[in-house]
This record gives sequence, C-alpha cells and structure tokens, in this order.
Amino acid sequence: MSESGPDQVHDVVILGGGSGGYAAALRAAQLKLSVVLIEKDKVGGTCLHRGCIPTKALLHAAEVADSARESERFGVKASFEAIDMPGVNKYKDGVVGRLYKGLQGLIGSSAITFVEGEGHLISADTVEVGGQRYRGRNIILGTGSYARSLPGLEIGGRIITSDQALTLDQVPQRVIVLGGGVIGVEFASVWRSFGAEVTIVEALPRLVPAEDAGASKILERAFRKRGIAFKTGIRFAGATQDDNGVTVSLESGETLTADLLLVAVGRGPNAAGFGYEEVGIAMDRGFVLTDERLRTNVPNVFAVGDIVPGLQLAHRGFAQGIFVAEEIGGLNPAPIVESGIPRVTYCDPEVASVGITEAQAQERFGADEVQTYEYNLGGNGKSQILATAGFVKLVRQKSGPIVGVHMVGARVGELIGEGQLIVNWEAFPEEVAQLVHAHPTQNEAMGEAHLALAGKPLHSHA
Ligand SMILES: Cc1cc2nc3c(=O)[nH]c(=O)nc-3n(C[C@H](O)[C@H](O)[C@H](O)COP(=O)(O)OP(=O)(O)OC[C@H]3O[C@@H](n4cnc5c(N)ncnc54)[C@H](O)[C@@H]3O)c2cc1C
Repeated sequence: MSESGPDQVHDVVILGGGSGGYAAALRAAQLKLSVVLIEKDKVGGTCLHRGCIPTKALLHAAEVADSARESERFGVKASFEAIDMPGVNKYKDGVVGRLYKGLQGLIGSSAITFVEGEGHLISADTVEVGGQRYRGRNIILGTGSYARSLPGLEIGGRIITSDQALTLDQVPQRVIVLGGGVIGVEFASVWRSFGAEVTIVEALPRLVPAEDAGASKILERAFRKRGIAFKTGIRFAGATQDDNGVTVSLESGETLTADLLLVAVGRGPNAAGFGYEEVGIAMDRGFVLTDERLRTNVPNVFAVGDIVPGLQLAHRGFAQGIFVAEEIGGLNPAPIVESGIPRVTYCDPEVASVGITEAQAQERFGADEVQTYEYNLGGNGKSQILATAGFVKLVRQKSGPIVGVHMVGARVGELIGEGQLIVNWEAFPEEVAQLVHAHPTQNEAMGEAHLALAGKPLHSHA
C-alpha cells in the first residue's frame, strides 16, 4: 500500500469499493496510476457480501436439496431430511469469507491506498473522509445501490429485503415475494427448494418481465410445475404484520398471508447525501448521469456501477470500472455496449440472455425483418440426462446477424459465454453452424439452434 499525504494529488480517488469501484482501483493501479480507494463497509460491496455470491451459494444448497429429494428418479437411493439453516449459512459465509480474504489480499498487495470510512465529495476534485481530504486529478463515483421498497411499505419485522433474507436462521413456512424480477424469482426458487410455500406477486404481466416474453412463458411453466405460485399483472395495495404473520392486500381485493414478505421491487441508487448534487453533478431520479464514456457533466468526475442508469449487474460494474481506469490512463477503450452485457437469473431453471428480445428487434428492424428460432431442450441429450426442460431462442435480423440469444433451462447460465461472443461479434447463423459443438453438452443446443436457423436442422425441425 502507498501512503497519502495531505497535500498529495492522486491520479484517481474512488468512492465505493464494490464491483465498479474496486475493479477501477485494480486496473488503475496496474496502469501505474496513483489510486485512493475509499470504502465505508467492506470491499467487494453488495455483490460479494449481500448479492451475487451469497445468493448463488443459497441456490446451490437448494440444488443439492432438490437432488437429494429427486434422487430416486436417477436410481439413487438417498433421502432428504431437512434444511439446516445454520449449516447452509456456514457454507455460504465460508464462500463469501474466502473470496473477501482473497480480494483484501489483492488490494493490499497492489499500490492502492485503501481508506476505510464514509467519503463525501466536497468539491469536483476532493473527497473528505473523517476530516481527512483526498484530492484527485480524477474522481470515480461507485457508491452502488440499496434495496428499494414501495411507498407506505416499511421494512422491518416480517417485512424484509434481500439483505435480511440472506441472514435467516430458519426456513419460513410461507413466503410472499413482492416482485417477479431477478432477485424475487431467485429467492422464490431457493425457498421452494428449501420446502416453503411461495407466492410471487408481480405488477407487470409476467415473471422476469425484462426478459424475452418466450423466456418468461417457459419459466412460468417450470415454476408452476415446481409448485411456486405467482400472481402477475396484480398490484400490491398494502401489508400489515403481527406476531402470527404478515397479511398482504392486493388491488384486486385479494389478501394473502405468510410468515414473511420479501420486498424485491428493485434497487435504488445510493447516491444521496454524499455531496454529488452540491458539487453540481447531473442526476436523474437519484441516478448519476454519464455519457457513454462514463463521464459525468463535471470534468474529471466519472461514475460506475449501479448508480449509473442501466443494468444493475456486477460484471457491468467491473467492466465500467476497468473502462474508466483505462480512459483515465489514456488507453481510449471502446465504449461498453449495454445490450451486449450477458444477463443471468440463477433460479431453477436458469434464465440467461444477451442482446435484444424479439419485441425489441421488431421495434428496431420492423416485424418483417426479424426471424427467430426456438430450439427445445427436449432434443438435447445432456439436457435430457439432467432432466431439464427449456429452450434456446435465437433472434436474428433477417439475412443479418444474431441480435439476441435467450435461454431457459438448468445450467444455461454457463452457456451465455458463447451467446455473448455470437451477439457481440455479430455472427451470422451460417457462421456459427459451421462450428462443431461437443457431444453431449448443452452447448450443442446452441449449435443446433444455429444449424436450424441456417436452414440445415439436425435434431429438430426447421
Ligand atoms: C440479492 C442480490 C443478488 C444479486 N445477484 C447478482 C448476480 O447474480 N449477478 C450480478 O451480476 N449482479 C447481481 N447483483 C447485483 C450486484 O450486486 C450489483 O450490480 C453490484 O454489486 C453493483 O456494484 P457497485 O460497485 O455499483 O455497487 P456496490 O456493490 O453496491 O458497492 C458500493 C460500495 O460503496 C460503498 N459506499 C457507498 N457509499 C459510500 C461512501 N459515501 N463512502 C465510502 N463507501 C461508500 C458501499 O459500502 C459499497 O461497498 C445482485 C444484487 C443483489 C442485491
């Protein structure tokens, strides 16, 4: 670690050590820039401590539970006894702890001045932390996001957000999940596998409403089969709680009761109270506005991650952090294309996508100019072995490249790597069809879908 004197001007001062901030710090240090990284809680941010990693550990425990429960289907005699939440939490916290230690080591061994405390932007080039000032030729804002609620819906007791949901010491018997987006369906999936009765309430007409409509349909079918109840196109009206449970009323007049209500209605930007507005940074509904080079309207102040409008994903934050460090380092990196960022929802079955949806493609190119193909995983050997159902859907501009890949099925999140190369390299189905996919893999489904779209289907109909 390097030292920081009061008169020193650093190349970069970074506010927030989450995915966006720490990636910027590591890349800037690699580029031999002098870096100050300010973090008020734990480096790694939401993703490592309250987001991606702990939720995926819970989802893995859920998968193990389902495997035990369904073992006879595969001719294995095992029995499912119970979920031991302290044991699950120990496993989850162990994963987080090891990664946290690794990240601390990485930052500690690089030339980054790490400052613990809450930072406030007091001018366009200075951040103050506990009375100490850090001046930077460049400032990067990366203060992340928080779990939002709805007006009149106070978090506390039986009404929780993902933050509390990650620390439960027992499995609730009945849960209502408000919000059928990524976080909502992931927790619904975990709790169902853990044995809870789950009902999702979503105001929009379908689950995972940001995904292609075809993906929502398949996920809804799978959730129905798993006994996860959901009510879509229905708005929340209010909630009350007492010692016995929580009661949720819907605008339809219906009421639901449960032990817990998870509020998963999205994440708001954590950008108020740190001096941004006072310094004149342009904001919109609390988000920090930037251009495509992630510059705010104030010279040499950049913003990365969840405080910047767009996809709230850790890998977007990493990419933006690296981008800004390289921009400051004079490398003139290529701007990040938002639609080229892969998206994965890790419920069972998984939902993964990259590029644009069929509806977006029709809007962009005209309905007659869009061609789609849905390859049913029923025709894929490995998917049959795993006993999963779903699809690979391709969206193509007619006589043009693939512009969207949408998938549902067990483990399809691992297939999005190929999807992202196809979409971002603007591959034509005919080009992908030439590439040989290993047998039997789920990747083959990707190859088969392209073969079909190229007019030469093998294990499917054109
Ligand atoms: C339940 C859940 C599951 C998720 N799962 C996934 C997933 O599977 N995949 C995925 O890609 N994304 C997932 N996400 C989203 C992902 O966590 C975020 O997109 C990512 O963490 C955003 O990174 P960030 O750097 O913008 O902000 P954050 O990670 O929120 O980091 C911001 C940091 O800034 C610090 N900070 C804030 N204000 C100050 C200040 N004034 N001074 C100093 N420090 C400050 C905070 O303490 C925090 O550490 C999930 C999120 C949640 C909540």
